[in-house]
Amino acid sequence: MSGAEFIFAIDVFVAGSLALAFLAVAAADRGRSAARWFALSYASGIAYLATEFAIATLPSGGLAQVVVFASFLPPLVFFDVGLAKRYSGAVPWHSIVTVLAASLLVAYAIQAMPRNSLVRLTLYQMPYFAMQAIGASIVLTARRRALDSLLATLLIFSALQFLTKPLLAHALGGNGAMARDYHDTLYAFASQSIGTGLAVSIALLTLTVMVRDLLKEAKEKSETDPLSGLLNRRGFEAHADAILQDMRRQRRTLSLVICDLDYFKHINDTYGHGAGDRAIAAFARLLDTRVAAGQVPGRIGGEEFAVALPGVHLPAARLFAEGVRSAFAALPISGQPDDERCTASFGVAEIRNAESFEDFMRRADAALYEAKRGGRNQVCTASPYPAGSGRASSA
Ligand code: GH3
Ligand code: MG
Ligand code: MG
Repeated sequence: MSGAEFIFAIDVFVAGSLALAFLAVAAADRGRSAARWFALSYASGIAYLATEFAIATLPSGGLAQVVVFASFLPPLVFFDVGLAKRYSGAVPWHSIVTVLAASLLVAYAIQAMPRNSLVRLTLYQMPYFAMQAIGASIVLTARRRALDSLLATLLIFSALQFLTKPLLAHALGGNGAMARDYHDTLYAFASQSIGTGLAVSIALLTLTVMVRDLLKEAKEKSETDPLSGLLNRRGFEAHADAILQDMRRQRRTLSLVICDLDYFKHINDTYGHGAGDRAIAAFARLLDTRVAAGQVPGRIGGEEFAVALPGVHLPAARLFAEGVRSAFAALPISGQPDDERCTASFGVAEIRNAESFEDFMRRADAALYEAKRGGRNQVCTASPYPAGSGRASSA
């Protein structure tokens, strides 16, 4: 077995493992097809590798060479489709088909050229360069984070690598007198080593991007309440705690509003659970429309909500709560009589120096309890000063 064939053999195992890895991602990501296309890309890569092995045993002839040349295109095409599904949604079929059509011309044109001519070698690599360049441009034109930019960089390197192959072939003494001699050349060994290194790096990075997406989505799902579309208690506490740390670092304040719908059991009992659900969803929508950028609402219990207001002092937070209260008290809810309205009670607190998030929540909760005791459909504020400090207490 030649050096190049040894690398081909390793590639078969690597391509097979990658195809399985992407199938596993696809199984966890049923809504989207990108991982299935990547799996197809590596599975078809095995077919290409099989043709590389076969060429050593086939009689030298135009057809065998065309088959090897063409069989490396499907893995590249499927990979581009996977990238498009992941990054843009629109597959650039026009560019892909154009490159495939040009490949046909190339396959025809190179038949008559001397095997080691620079023009022939360059034409041979052009379709691969173009396919990989399409992939790079898909990632480059999408919204990117660090890993995506790294992937785009690797794809550019990989595309350029195809263009440098003719020069490499010349520098290392050519690609063999006949097709079957190719595997024994130094060029074949160098070219396959570089190609495998880049291909494996691209594959692992793509896999990492897909797994990163899955983990991010799973986290978002576990932190979102399906009925209201807002953060659930776990998500709200995680976000609000992070905001609190941020505000402390920036020496800015933070206020918290906790709200609870009034007599909700009565609404459920009188108009049904569905009407209750619609009231919860209506209140969530109202909160969502009233928060500014950076302010975070959440549904922290059955009919209980909270809003974190970074940088907002107590009087402004109270005004915010008053605005939501009066808007909700005027809002008709489908499934309930036109002349009846739901109401909600609110507790507002502003963070104290060195106060823990739990104590902060407790004070806002205590203010909410006061609003309930005071007759509901009202806003109460917690004192910003510690008990016994001699300053004014609750409003
Ligand atoms: P208060 O004014 O003191 O807050 O009285 P309340 O009736 O609103 O409070 P209570 O805590 O007694 O009842 C809350 C009710 O909210 C009980 C529960 O069945 C209902 N609830 C909790 N989650 C949901 C939900 O997702 N959908 C509906 N429809 N009802 C819910
Ligand atoms: Mg209630
Ligand atoms: Mg409640």
